[in-house]
Amino acid sequence: MSDCLFCKIAQKEIPAQVVYEDEKVMAFNDINPQAPVHILVIPKKHITDLVNLEENDLSLIAEIFKIIKQIAGEKGLDQEGYRVVNNCGEKGGQTVPHLHFHLLGGRQMNWPPG
Ligand code: 5GP
Ligand code: ZN
Repeated sequence: MSDCLFCKIAQKEIPAQVVYEDEKVMAFNDINPQAPVHILVIPKKHITDLVNLEENDLSLIAEIFKIIKQIAGEKGLDQEGYRVVNNCGEKGGQTVPHLHFHLLGGRQMNWPPG
């Protein structure tokens, strides 16, 4: 989508600190990190949120979680644990309307979230 921030990052029109990239998926550091490791993992294809995820694109979610697991291992988080978050829609606290998963780690996480 032409006016979408994360589509622009995926197309390299806006710079980001990319930590992983393949044909379908990109992972980059969050600009406002909430933990020592805070990485956003997105499909390059524009999907607004989980509500708008179609059956045909379900395999992308498996791919994204495979990459999250891989990056968490590379960052040394797999022994101590980490958190994966998807904010969906207004009450879910989503601020960028392009599907993304937060990988957060390197500090103790609390529950319930705010
Ligand atoms: P949401 O609130 O939609 O779940 O998460 C959006 C995330 O995108 C936030 O954590 C925010 O800091 C991050 N973000 C917003 N704009 C940019 C940007 O231009 N570059 C990067 N790398 N992250 C961004
Ligand atoms: Zn987009």
